[in-house]
Amino acid sequence: MRQSTLFATTLRQSPADAEAASHRLLLRAGFIRQLAAGIYAYLPLGRRVLAKIEGIVREEMDRAGAQEMLLTALQPAELWQASGRYEVYGPELVRLRDRHDREFALGPTHEEVITTLVKHDIRSYRRLPFTVYQIQTKFRDERRPRSGLLRGREFLMKDAYSFDTSWEGVDRSYRRMYEAYVRIFERCGLRFRAVEADPGAIGGEGGTHEFMALAEAGEDTIASCTRCGYSANLEKAEAGLPEEDADGTAGVEERRGAIAEADVEEAERIYTPGIRTIEQLTSFLGIEPRCVIKTLLYVADGQPVAVLVRGDHEANETKLLRALNAEQAELADADTVASVTGAPPGYAGPIGLGIPILVDEAVARMQSGVCGANEADYHVRRAVPGRDFAVHRTGDFRNVREGDRCPRCGQGELRLGRGIEVGHVFKLGTKYSEALGAAFLDAEGRERPLLMGCYGIGVSRLLAAIVEQRHDDKGIVWPAAIAPYRAHIVPVSARDETQVRVAERLYEELVRQGIETLLDDRDERAGVKFNDADLIGIPFRIVVGKQAGEGLVEYTVRADGEKRLLTVEDAIARIRAAAAAT
Ligand code: ATP
Ligand code: MG
Repeated sequence: MRQSTLFATTLRQSPADAEAASHRLLLRAGFIRQLAAGIYAYLPLGRRVLAKIEGIVREEMDRAGAQEMLLTALQPAELWQASGRYEVYGPELVRLRDRHDREFALGPTHEEVITTLVKHDIRSYRRLPFTVYQIQTKFRDERRPRSGLLRGREFLMKDAYSFDTSWEGVDRSYRRMYEAYVRIFERCGLRFRAVEADPGAIGGEGGTHEFMALAEAGEDTIASCTRCGYSANLEKAEAGLPEEDADGTAGVEERRGAIAEADVEEAERIYTPGIRTIEQLTSFLGIEPRCVIKTLLYVADGQPVAVLVRGDHEANETKLLRALNAEQAELADADTVASVTGAPPGYAGPIGLGIPILVDEAVARMQSGVCGANEADYHVRRAVPGRDFAVHRTGDFRNVREGDRCPRCGQGELRLGRGIEVGHVFKLGTKYSEALGAAFLDAEGRERPLLMGCYGIGVSRLLAAIVEQRHDDKGIVWPAAIAPYRAHIVPVSARDETQVRVAERLYEELVRQGIETLLDDRDERAGVKFNDADLIGIPFRIVVGKQAGEGLVEYTVRADGEKRLLTVEDAIARIRAAAAAT
């Protein structure tokens, strides 16, 4: 490709609203352009990278035995009504009407469509199992589209669906997709982790993993063990035993008994004027936050509940929802707090509270603690769980913290890091097959619902996640496997006949050898061309300069800045070897 005719302009300035590096660089380097919030066009360079990623995804899906299809973006609303998601999905679902006033949705995902198709075509266990996939544009009217391709309203997804006759089959299909994902992300040169995730709203009975690209720009927090392979989303990550219990000698019940017997002095009501926050309370009393019992009031599916966590811990709403089997929960407003506790916010406590109380394990294990007194300007000192307030229900209701002991191996510590969800594998079970009536006849002729799994990769998000990991202050540094071109030829001066001749010859030779090459044939200053080349980030560059007449060119590797003066032949050989290695 000749750069003089390439439809891509590099921009000197970063767009003001672009915060994420991938957003900024993809715009500046001429890979994408925004048409509206969260809606982007791929210019030729961007399209080439996308096609490379699609190619890898397709190869690995095919290798895993999945069959490619192409489903429709326009989906009749009835399918969504039948699955019960027409309402649940909310405003993220793009809805429209045709000329006959019939309702449609623009597909944000395709469980309904594929299950309906399979329902009409598959009757017997003999035609099962199978997995299908597609690479297609999805539409989600995200509340906050952000960071360019990382969260778009129109984006490219690979979605796959497996159909099995048994849970063992689902496990096999799931494992096969999981392994394909590992290969896909490795081939894309991504640093990633597969983490245990919470099933959330999509529903289902089995397991789920999210594939997280490790990057600061990520919206998700991941906890990983320093010793074993344990890795989980913050929503899901289990809090291990507190340090003092980690030897496992004392079970919760035993400890609780021991505490009840220990003679902690009577609880005492203390005057704490205007003290509402943990920080104020700890500095007022001169105690550590871990000595405080924090009482959080939530309204879960319309019902008030209290959650007790230690002062140095945060409540985890996902765990709360699970424990309560509730759809949604939010912190109670001041009015609710007042009516439940009889006090303004900041003074809630568990003693005498007439609502269900969920007690985090770490609180259940406290000898005693300071808590709110359900009265303005008062707290209670030496409140003992089980003695001064009922401990009906204990469990893991908090977020893990950096340095917590690993819940899996009990040896390592948890580290927290940021991640971008690039893929998701999910055992769905019969959720959609039952709702939509997709059944098969087993060997005994009995009708049974199909067992499903679903598997997504955000192809366009993956592209951006790779840029988040692969860039420097000059621009993008593409891994060779997905770069828009392998080689970039830059003659220093477009007016030097020898340079132009050598560059043209080199270009023809590389193209003849099947190596994708970009030739900067623009009549620009050398500095401009070099800056653009760094910005665009093609892995191997050949600069044709003053020594072109002697048959020497400069070979540069974008990733590490390695530079060598080589003969034209050697430069070609190197690029060929590097291309063969990826
Ligand atoms: P998120 O939590 O980021 O909103 P999700 O759980 O809604 O993601 P899924 O429904 O599992 O995502 O979709 C499968 C994959 O599609 C995700 O793993 C992600 O890589 C990608 N994806 C989801 N939403 C977007 C979006 N708005 N823009 C780009 N990619 C997306
Ligand atoms: Mg989402």
